[in-house]
This record gives sequence, C-alpha cells and structure tokens, in this order.
Amino acid sequence: MAGVEINIQHLDKSFGSLKVLKDINFHVKPGEFVAIVGKSGCGKSTLLRTIAGLESVTGGVITFNSKEVKGVQETTRMMFQDARLLPWKDVLTNVRVGNSDRTKAEQALGNVGLLEKSSEWPGVLSGGQKQRVSLARALAGDPDLILFDEPLGALDALTRIEMQSLIEQLWKQQRFTSILVTHDVSEAIILADRVVLIEDGGISLDVKIDLQRPRVKDARFTVYENMIL
Ligand code: ADP
Ligand code: MG
Repeated sequence: MAGVEINIQHLDKSFGSLKVLKDINFHVKPGEFVAIVGKSGCGKSTLLRTIAGLESVTGGVITFNSKEVKGVQETTRMMFQDARLLPWKDVLTNVRVGNSDRTKAEQALGNVGLLEKSSEWPGVLSGGQKQRVSLARALAGDPDLILFDEPLGALDALTRIEMQSLIEQLWKQQRFTSILVTHDVSEAIILADRVVLIEDGGISLDVKIDLQRPRVKDARFTVYENMIL
C-alpha cells in the first residue's frame, strides 16, 4: 500500500490549561520519512498520538489524503520504546493482533527475519527481537502510515544500527509514510528525508536531509550535532 499524505493545519492540543502544541502546520508527502526531535516534554509523543487519533485535537484540522480524520485509522500503526507484546500469546499470535490474516503475519515475520520464532513466547526473546516482532505486527496490517515513538531508544548500539537498517530497507520496499520521534539525531539524519525540531509547542526548524550535500548549518542544531560529531 502506498503511503498516506498528511496535512496538519493550525493544530492546537491542550491538556486542561497546559498548551502542549500551538498552531502546528505540517505537511508530509506520501511515502515520506520525517523525523521529529526536541527536548523531553516538548510534545513529540502528543503530536504522534494526535496524528494516530488516540488524542482528540483542541483546535485545527488533520487530513489524510485530503480527508479530515478523527479517531484511529485502520491503516495507521505505531511502534513504541517497549514492544508492547502480549506475554501470554506466542509470537505469531502477537503479530496477528489487529491483523487477522495468518499469511500476512507470517510474511511480515519473515520480513523481519523471525519466522522461526513464530511459536515462541515473547518472554524468551531479546529486546531487539521483541522490537522486530512489534515491527512485524505493524507491517502485517499493510500500513500506509507508521508512527515510531522512540522505538529503538532502549536497544544497545549495535542492535539499534541493525534495526535502523531493517526499518530503512522495509520502508524503501513498502513506502509507508513514516514519522519517527527520536532522541538520536544521527538516527534522524540516517533514516529521514526531513528532520523537524519542536520547541515551545511549535515547529522551530524543518530541514531537508540531503547527504550528497553539506548539511544545513543552523545554530539550533549545534547542540544535536555535538552529540554526533
Ligand atoms: P515528549 O514526548 O516530547 O517527551 P509528551 O508529548 O509526552 O512529550 O508530553 C508533552 C507535555 O504534555 C508534558 O508536559 C506532559 O506532561 C503533558 N502530557 C502528555 N500527555 C498528557 C495527558 N494525557 N494529560 C496531561 N498532560 C499530558
Ligand atoms: Mg515522548
């Protein structure tokens, strides 16, 4: 399935008197890979949850393929830092949660290299394998949008690199639209077409990544660049 086009216009999101997102305007092309960075508590997860339809908007409009959306869409999937597998169900059944088709679930497990673990319990898997199962569960739903909320944050460095290249490979094959929240700016630059910085409830920087050319220099990115250079 091709990726969805997302348009966010004048999005406000408050929790009571706390204004978390203020007048966010943001367009994502079909099949684009956008990374979102920003300090802890700046509203990254809230933005993802709002796009996912798990939170209502306080103001503004979100459209998918030019149609206003409210509530959870069947072809949107999420991945979190904890894989959120059901411990009492085997791996294949976990992949089938929300996706009833067995063949698709097996195909998705094959795509993440874990078909031979189909009948294992989640508890015996490593952290990286659990995240692969969680990715397979997302893929088995034929998503046109995957929202990644720091999915690799708890993995060791080598496993994280393996997962990054797996996500990149599957995204290149399947072209679901991807929005990735990450603390790791090198990860954002490796995976994404664009990196967006959220500050004070708004988008303060939106940079296209083109690794063929020198990276855009902006003082607001210096703190992040220092982490990776
Ligand atoms: P981030 O993911 O960037 O670390 P979050 O989106 O989780 O930030 O949170 C942004 C702000 O919104 C924080 O101040 C947080 O405490 C608040 N917040 C998030 N969810 C809720 C909620 N359900 N109720 C009240 N406040 C919330
Ligand atoms: Mg968060």
